Amino acid sequence: MVKTALITGILGQDGPYLAKLLLSKGYKVYGLIRRYTNPNFENLDYLGITSEIEFILGDMTDECSLMNILKIIRPDEVYNLAAQSFVAASWDQAKLTTEVNALGTLYLLNAIKLFNPTTKFYQASTSEMFGNNYSAGGIQTEETPFHPRSPYAISKLYAYWIAINFKESYGIFAANGILFNHESPIRGREFVTRKISEGVAKIKLGLATEIKLGNIDSKRDWGFAGDYVEAMWLMLQQEKPDNLIISTGITHSIRDFLEVAFNHVGIKDWEKYIRIDPQFKRPAELFVLQGKSDKARNILGWQPKVQFEELVKMMVDADLERLKK
Ligand code: NDP
Ligand code: GDP
Repeated sequence: MVKTALITGILGQDGPYLAKLLLSKGYKVYGLIRRYTNPNFENLDYLGITSEIEFILGDMTDECSLMNILKIIRPDEVYNLAAQSFVAASWDQAKLTTEVNALGTLYLLNAIKLFNPTTKFYQASTSEMFGNNYSAGGIQTEETPFHPRSPYAISKLYAYWIAINFKESYGIFAANGILFNHESPIRGREFVTRKISEGVAKIKLGLATEIKLGNIDSKRDWGFAGDYVEAMWLMLQQEKPDNLIISTGITHSIRDFLEVAFNHVGIKDWEKYIRIDPQFKRPAELFVLQGKSDKARNILGWQPKVQFEELVKMMVDADLERLKK
């Protein structure tokens, strides 16, 4: 029997990597897309899999559409990756962020409960839920208390708990992957890593003279999206659903990212290309994210393969390639 999976957020960063993984395992993959005059398949095209996905029209804020989809396709697995995922925008669009990320997850779980309760459900939870809380050793673990510091993080905390509630109340197989930041050549352009990789490539090619950034002292535990989607799939292959941190365990500052990126294209005096612009500073910041993923490594046998420097170079090289074309 061919396994079926529904991926929400199929046009984003993680959706295409996950779809590629599932296709390689023989799954039939359905991708939820919103109605657009001009839909953007750039990320799926980048991985060369657009024609292999069956697209299905819907919206996380439209519960009727989600119920219809669950009723029609009855997937074995649902990966809920759709979100207003940009923390900075969540202060400006707090209601939308809440509707998509929090209520959208509720609608999807409810559709599963009504039409296919044996569906296994993956929720894209986030290290943002921890805020500036740490456990011993200054690291975040599954036991670290949550203290969300943005409308985005708060909406994701609701989604995290409603997934657990559907597991406890209705026996739905609902697993939360608490993923730390993960990046790739198809990362959204407004996120700091891609902004830097694209900016460095432009400067190298003489197409730009500076990169405007906010707080470059904050630190993130950055991994590669291609590695992290493997953990998502593994979480749904277990006998019991669990809530697991997925991270590299190593944290770097944005300064570190800048240095590796600029050095890679032969620029040593990188600081002269950086402008600090207050518009990119946030009302409330997370200073350091660093996750302990020992539990996932033990249970899933997972570990990240791509290291920090390799990731930075991969992103810069991809942007150089794109811009040259
Ligand atoms: P992206 O922002 O790249 O992709 C999100 C996708 O969600 C987009 O394709 C977008 O569709 C879709 N979407 C937004 N609103 C709706 C809606 N109302 N109905 C249907 N689809 C919608 O995110 P990533 O791929 O980077 O991340 C995947 C998930 O993992 C997200 O939930 C994110 O919050 C979470 N996460 C990500 C981390 C990371 O570092 N990348 C870390 C931890 C969690 P469209 O293309 O139409 O705009
Ligand atoms: P996040 O961790 O999900 O918020 O991912 P981002 O890539 O958006 O931001 C990571 C960190 O980079 C945060 O601490 C931001 O404040 C910081 N940062 C500094 N300058 C910028 C910028 O120009 N854009 C973005 N997106 N983040 C920036």
